[in-house]
Amino acid sequence: MDEQCRFCEIIRGEKKADYVFEDDTLVVFKDIYPAAPVHLLVVPRKHIRSINDLKEEDLGILEKMFIKAKDIARDQGIADTGYKLLINVERGGGQVIFHLHMHLFGGWRDKSRPK
Ligand code: AMP
Ligand code: ZN
Repeated sequence: MDEQCRFCEIIRGEKKADYVFEDDTLVVFKDIYPAAPVHLLVVPRKHIRSINDLKEEDLGILEKMFIKAKDIARDQGIADTGYKLLINVERGGGQVIFHLHMHLFGGWRDKSRPK
């Protein structure tokens, strides 16, 4: 846990978030500034700054993030129309919150399907 980290504050319950899932390893909540009709953040409870800081002991966290993301995409009804999973790494990679997280974007209309 990191005292100054916004996502640690959410995980500790000191800051509100719109949760869609939580378990012992992960929390999933809505992005406060959604960039897609569905925009969720899949966040490990453990404070890891970025992908650059993953250690051997963190094996399993990324797999859980991917499995949970696809399960939630299914629950949210966006699995078949499609979605994007994105992890920004450090400032040059667009990361602004330095607590590892995966974006789940989706919910656009499938343009290939008839109306
Ligand atoms: P990144 O650029 O990958 O670090 O993404 C950080 C994301 O966190 C951005 O999409 C923000 O909109 C989102 N965000 C920042 N503060 C909050 C918050 N308090 N609750 C939910 N999402 C947040
Ligand atoms: Zn943190």
